[in-house]
Amino acid sequence: MDQVTPQTPKNLNQSPPFADINLYETDLVLQGCAVREGAAHAEDELRAFGAITGSAENLARGARANTRLPVLERDTAHEGIGNGIVVYDPSYHELMAISMKAGLHCSTWQQLVSGVAPKPGAHVARAAAFFMAAQMEAGHCCPVTMTHAGVAVLQRQPEILDAWLPKILARKYDPAFAPVADKSAVTLGMGMTEMQGGTDVRANLTRAEPLEGGGPGTLYSISGHKYFMSAPMSDAFLVLAQAPGGLSCFLMPRFLPDGTPNAIDFVTLKDKLGNRSNASSEVEFHDAQGWLIGREGRGVRTIVGMVTLTRLDCAVSSAGLMRFALADAIHHCRHRAVFGKKLVEQPMMARVLAHMALHSEAATMLAMRLARSYDGVQDEKEAAFRRLMTPVIKYWVCKTAPNFAYEAMECLGGIGYVEDASPLARLYREVPVNAIWEGSGNVMCLDVLRVLKRLPESVELVLGEFADAPGGERRVRAQLGQFKDLVSRPETLEGNGRVLAGLLADLAIATLMVTNAPANVADAYLSARDAAADDALFGSVELTGDPAGILERALPE
Ligand SMILES: Cc1cc2nc3c(=O)[nH]c(=O)nc-3n(C[C@H](O)[C@H](O)[C@H](O)COP(=O)(O)OP(=O)(O)OC[C@H]3O[C@@H](n4cnc5c(N)ncnc54)[C@H](O)[C@@H]3O)c2cc1C
Repeated sequence: MDQVTPQTPKNLNQSPPFADINLYETDLVLQGCAVREGAAHAEDELRAFGAITGSAENLARGARANTRLPVLERDTAHEGIGNGIVVYDPSYHELMAISMKAGLHCSTWQQLVSGVAPKPGAHVARAAAFFMAAQMEAGHCCPVTMTHAGVAVLQRQPEILDAWLPKILARKYDPAFAPVADKSAVTLGMGMTEMQGGTDVRANLTRAEPLEGGGPGTLYSISGHKYFMSAPMSDAFLVLAQAPGGLSCFLMPRFLPDGTPNAIDFVTLKDKLGNRSNASSEVEFHDAQGWLIGREGRGVRTIVGMVTLTRLDCAVSSAGLMRFALADAIHHCRHRAVFGKKLVEQPMMARVLAHMALHSEAATMLAMRLARSYDGVQDEKEAAFRRLMTPVIKYWVCKTAPNFAYEAMECLGGIGYVEDASPLARLYREVPVNAIWEGSGNVMCLDVLRVLKRLPESVELVLGEFADAPGGERRVRAQLGQFKDLVSRPETLEGNGRVLAGLLADLAIATLMVTNAPANVADAYLSARDAAADDALFGSVELTGDPAGILERALPE
C-alpha cells in the first residue's frame, strides 16, 4: 500500500500577500482628499510614490527593519564621549533614502532657498505622500517628520537656518557618522523629555551655560540627561535646557565645528512595544555644545512650532496605518471562504468592514483637511482651523487607531496575530505611539481648552465652518448647542476636555462627510454615529445602505 506523507498545504484558502499594490491608485478616498484640498498638481508624483510604497520589495524592507533592530555601538575612529553610534539594518537606510528622495523631510520649505513661493497645496501633497510612507513602514517616519518640523524652529535664528538649510533640503540620504560638511544631507532630532518631566517640560533639569556671553545664536555648554531622544543618529537635535534666563531651545550638533564629536553620550536604546525600526535613546550631555535658538526663557514658545508640525504628521500617519489595516482586511476577506462563502459576503463581516471603512474615510478626511490649513498660513480662517483643530485631530485620529488596528487584525483570524504571516500584528503594536508622543491624549485636550479660553474668535471661525455645512443641520445644531453649553460651565470645563475635543472632531467629520463624500457613505456614517456611543465596537450598529457599495469604494476590486 502507498504510504501517504502528511504535508502542509500551500496557501489553501488563504489570501495572497497584500503587496505590489499602488497605495495611491487603490485609495479613492486619499485621491479625493488630495485633489480637493489642493494637491491636484502633485497627482503624478503621488501615483508614482504609491507604487513605490506599496511594492512587495519595500513592504518587505519595512518588515525586515522591524526585526533586525538598531543597536548602540562605539565608533572606533573617534575617542571618548560622543562616539556612540547606532547601527541599523540596511533595510532601514533604504527606507530613509526612499522617503528623503521624495522630499518628505523638506518639500514644504523649498521656497526658503529658491525664493519662489511654494505651489498651493504643498503641505497637502506632502501629507498624502507621508500617509503612504507610513504604510510602507512607520518607524523611519520619526526622523523624517522631525527634520521637516525642525525647520520651523530654525527659522527663529536666520543665520543658523542659512548654515543648515542647504543640507536639510538635500534629498540624497546620507547615514554616515560624520561632520555636516562631509555629508550629502542631514536629519534632525529633538530632545525635550526628561525623567522627572516630559509633558511638563518646565521641570527640565538640564542646564545651559553661555560660552560666548549669551544671547540668540551664540554657543552654550549643556549638561544633563534626556529620558527619550529618538533617532539618535541625527546630525543635530533641538534640545530644551535651563539657561540663566529660563527654559530655552538649542540646536545641538553631533559634530562640533572643529570636526570632533559633540559630548552627547547615548546611554541605552529603549526596548519598545512597537516602532522598533526607529531607535529611541536615553542620553547624557556632558558639556555638550549648542546654539541658542530664539531668546533665553522662550524655549517652549520656540519649540512649539516644531511640535505643531509633528502633531499633524502623527494624525496623517495614524490615518495611513488605519487605511493599510482596512485594505489588508478587505483583501483577506475577499479571498478567504468560511462556511462555503467568502468572508466579505458574510453579512456580519461585511458590516464590520463597512463600518471600519467609514471610520478610515473619516480619519483620512480629517488629516488631509488639517494639512490644508498649514498651506493657508496667511488666511485667517485656515489659521484658526490649524490652531484649534491640530490637537483635536491628533487626539481623535491617533486615539481611535489602536482599536481599529485590533479589529482589522481580527478580520484575518489567527494569522492576523502572527508576526511573520501578516503585517497587521506589527501594525497593531505600532499605532499607540502616535497617541502617546508629541503630546498624549489628555495633553491634546488641554491644548484645545487653552484655545477655547484664549482665542474665542478663532473658535467662532471654525464653528462657523461647521454650521455652514449643507445637509447636517439638525445634528450640527444639537452638537453645537451641547458644545456651547459645556464651554459655558467653567467648573467642569477641564474634566470635559475629551468630550469637547470629541465633539469638535465629530462636527468636523460630519461637515467633511456631507460636503464631500458620496451620499451613501455620508448617510451611513452619520446614521452610525447617531446610533452608537463613542466607543462602539465596529459592526455593532445598524448601517444604512449596502455594505458592498461602501467596500467597493474602500478598495475597488
Ligand atoms: C517611542 C517614543 C519615542 C519618543 N521620542 C522622543 C523624542 O525623540 N524626544 C522627546 O523629547 N521625547 C520623546 N518621547 C517622549 C514622549 O514625547 C513623552 O513620553 C510624552 O510626551 C508623554 O510625556 P511623559 O512620558 O512625561 O508622560 P506624562 O507627562 O507623565 O503623562 C502621563 C499621562 O498623563 C497625562 N497627563 C499629563 N498631564 C495631564 C494633566 N494636566 N491632566 C490630565 N492628564 C495629564 C498624559 O496625557 C499621559 O497620558 C518619546 C516617547 C516614546 C514612547
